Amino acid sequence: MMEHYDLLSIGGGSGGLAAAQRAAIHGARAAVIESGRLGGTCVNVGCVPKKVMWYAAQIAHVLEDAGGYGFDVAVHGHNWALLKERRDAYVARLNAIYERNLQRRDVNLYRGHASFVDAHTVRVGDRQMSADHIVIATGGKPRVPDIPGAQLGIVSDDFFQLEKCPDSVAVIGSGYIAVELAGMFAALGAEVRIYVRYDGVLRRFDPMLRSILTDELGHAGIDVVPDSRVAELAAADGGEISLLDTNHASLGVFDKVLWAIGRGPNSADLSLDKAGVAIREDGVVISDEMQNTNVAGVYAIGDVTGRAELTPVAIAAGRRLADRVIGGDADRKLDYDCIPTVVFSHPTIGTVGLTEPEAREKFGADVRIYESSYKPMYDQLSGREAQAAAKLVVTGAQERVVGCHVIGPGADEMLQGFAVAIKMGATKRDFDDTVAIHPTSAEEVVTLA
Ligand code: FAD
Ligand code: NDP
Repeated sequence: MMEHYDLLSIGGGSGGLAAAQRAAIHGARAAVIESGRLGGTCVNVGCVPKKVMWYAAQIAHVLEDAGGYGFDVAVHGHNWALLKERRDAYVARLNAIYERNLQRRDVNLYRGHASFVDAHTVRVGDRQMSADHIVIATGGKPRVPDIPGAQLGIVSDDFFQLEKCPDSVAVIGSGYIAVELAGMFAALGAEVRIYVRYDGVLRRFDPMLRSILTDELGHAGIDVVPDSRVAELAAADGGEISLLDTNHASLGVFDKVLWAIGRGPNSADLSLDKAGVAIREDGVVISDEMQNTNVAGVYAIGDVTGRAELTPVAIAAGRRLADRVIGGDADRKLDYDCIPTVVFSHPTIGTVGLTEPEAREKFGADVRIYESSYKPMYDQLSGREAQAAAKLVVTGAQERVVGCHVIGPGADEMLQGFAVAIKMGATKRDFDDTVAIHPTSAEEVVTLA
């Protein structure tokens, strides 16, 4: 007999797990179908192993800086393979914890590739299951351009398979993954160059952050090559890879080439047509602000929707959806405004709300900027050339804070609290009236004049 569920998640990543587990907490009969490793991108080839690599890079920096603090440290290299082994073991522990969490909540797990039979029925191998509510949470995958030799390059998934640090790496792209992985490669010993199509990295971020990050990448020995159009990858001597431009001129020869040009949705193999679910030309599953697709009882959350591709966004969308369709909280939905985000570069970037150009476009002349740049206290002795900065973007007579942008040590941990204040509608005066915590970098944000 075919199993029937109240809610069925296709995809056992951040969003799918969150929706099914929240549904089960509300008392629903829920299930998850996962074709790969439980936890999805974030746990297996995203946030988690990435942050481990970021810590390793951070330790490399601290070891370099230790002399400035009186330590006589001799570093005898770095064992990438050992780090990978320990990182993989940690991820495997998480996979097992995620599976136990499903069992604890009586959420059924099906292993295999799911596709629609009709709007209420899904197939996994030769099994079929039906549900009142089906959540498409199949995430995305790295994009690779359609150019000759593209397959010679690697993508972020492959980064986590590397057994050793390459001698040299060309990173193509300019977003989160480009700057994060470039920083890790460089700190752990590779020569790194980032090739960007336009004038620099992180084009959608506040100009202050971009400018300081570009300087900091330079201090870390990472060249950012602007206006580069990589048209072809070709095999070179000794297993290396040559980057060629549109005139077949060589842009350089590298051990590894990393594509970091964005991600696309996993929707092609779902037989969405059988359910009648509409997608965009690029495969993104079209959903409204309540995560509804065009088919009643079928929803989409997380990266497959092409909106704010972040783990907490997928989780929040999944939980709110289950609160709504199972828990009976009729208006519950995720507000996609003012989502805080961190770039795990060196140093980190924390940002929430509007950039200065976005605010000027939205509010015209009614925008005021409070900004400060400083050398972090830690770097007064580290010997490192380093710069940090904080910026508030405010508008209106009340000076409501509509953007907060920080780059520097601790920016990653700092932003969450400021994001709460900004979401609540804090004004510059509220920031001023908050007593600083000293000596920290966070105090810069409440002492801007
Ligand atoms: P996923 O987590 O990708 O889960 C989708 C799941 O569906 C996968 O497990 C897949 O195997 C499964 N699946 C697909 N098709 C089918 C099918 N037909 N049948 C069954 N199962 C299927 N975000 C942050 O917030 N912070 C970070 O620091 C961060 N770092 C990142 C670093 C990297 C290198 C990458 C690539 C991403 C990072 N992200 C980060 C983004 C984050 O990982 C994603 O936004 C998040 O995982 C999206 O969750 P999801 O549930 O939509 O999809
Ligand atoms: P991003 O969207 O961050 O950046 C990709 C950038 O690459 C584009 O913005 C574009 O910038 C450039 N690009 C696009 N096509 C090409 C091309 N053909 N050639 C050269 N450059 C190109 O994507 P990522 O792959 O870095 O990451 C995917 C998503 O994963 C992110 O958007 C983010 O949501 C999430 N993520 C989050 C992290 C975090 O929270 N810390 C970490 C890692 C990923 P331009 O137009 O300037 O050329």
